[in-house]
Amino acid sequence: MRVTVIGAGIVGAACAYACAQRGLHVTVVDRGGLVAGTTGSGEGNILVSDKEPGPELDLALRSNTLWREWEADLDRHIDGGIQLERKGGLIVTRTSRGMRALAETAGELVDERAVRDLEPLLAADILGGAFFRQDMQVQPARAAAAMLAGARELGATLRLRTEVRDLPADADAVINATGAWAAQFGIALPVEPRRGFILVTEPLPVLIRHKVYSAEYLENVASGDAGLQTSTVVEGTPGGPVLIGATRERVGFDSTPSREALRKLAAGAAALFPFLADVRIMRSYHGFRPYSADHLPIIGPDPATDRLWHAHGHEGAGIGLAPATGDLIADLLTGATPALDPAPFSPARFVVANGVGA
Ligand SMILES: Cc1cc2nc3c(=O)[nH]c(=O)nc-3n(C[C@H](O)[C@H](O)[C@H](O)COP(=O)(O)OP(=O)(O)OC[C@H]3O[C@@H](n4cnc5c(N)ncnc54)[C@H](O)[C@@H]3O)c2cc1C
Repeated sequence: MRVTVIGAGIVGAACAYACAQRGLHVTVVDRGGLVAGTTGSGEGNILVSDKEPGPELDLALRSNTLWREWEADLDRHIDGGIQLERKGGLIVTRTSRGMRALAETAGELVDERAVRDLEPLLAADILGGAFFRQDMQVQPARAAAAMLAGARELGATLRLRTEVRDLPADADAVINATGAWAAQFGIALPVEPRRGFILVTEPLPVLIRHKVYSAEYLENVASGDAGLQTSTVVEGTPGGPVLIGATRERVGFDSTPSREALRKLAAGAAALFPFLADVRIMRSYHGFRPYSADHLPIIGPDPATDRLWHAHGHEGAGIGLAPATGDLIADLLTGATPALDPAPFSPARFVVANGVGA
């Protein structure tokens, strides 16, 4: 079977890698260079802690397993490896109400003392938190490049700086992995960009050991509000800089820097880790998360267009969810029994919801 993957971001790369592993003849096409889209802006968190029980958590758990399984092979394909760190995630709160809410999560509840054993430099008013051992971090650009290299080793072809306008006639299946730009192919799916800014500090020694975020991040992730939402997410990187996120707003593909968003990020980070107030910010960047209207990725065959498949709409979780997405697409294409139920991710759910058919 000849498969063309449109988009060489992390999701397209994972689809290509998983399909090539099953012996399919894969071509990956991207209008830009490597990680020209949102993948180049992702922080690289591989989270289970921010997912509610249901299909997205199932996909996250499957992905968590696949990241560990794929790691050794992917490390082989890029100097310095994909930098998969099993660091764990820590959600913190200042209020007893927040502690009660965290008690409802699957995390390990940590009190005021234990939270400081995990992160000694946290602000004095942090009351406690919930720790999630399974949360990991990866370097997204490295991971995508390694998946593409892995696919190429298995015979795949990569064509960069080539825009796709129509479905390639020579492919038996075409996978739309164009992220925030996915609405251009197939039925009208409710995918649109949700902008996010990140601040990057000067390189520091390891002062922050885990991914640390405030409890309101969970609300922001689940919300579909179009306005600016900010919650504090802080983490170190193997290279030294600390990454500070995360804002969310639906303003189309507007790339104008937002002072308000950057100021809120800096203030939130300093409130969580006071030492950050004296650290220099080296740069900021933004990206466009592929937002899907019901917060679930869109994975599966197009209900109306022959040969077309979709793999997008992962919003702020596409790095983490990429392996399970590629694996699911490859299983569906080859008629294998998937590791999880594909129905909740089917593009057809929007057709049914709109009463247009199916
Ligand atoms: C600030 C920020 C922080 C984030 N942090 C995290 C995180 O910590 N963890 C996490 O899991 N996720 C995170 N995300 C989300 C994650 O980055 C995305 O979900 C993921 O990168 C989407 O990958 P993708 O492959 O679907 O899309 P993309 O990486 O955007 O790839 C799509 C590709 O399609 C190409 N393309 C588009 N149209 C065409 C065409 N017509 N022809 C050819 N090529 C085309 C583009 O050039 C692009 O390369 C973050 C996002 C942002 C913005």
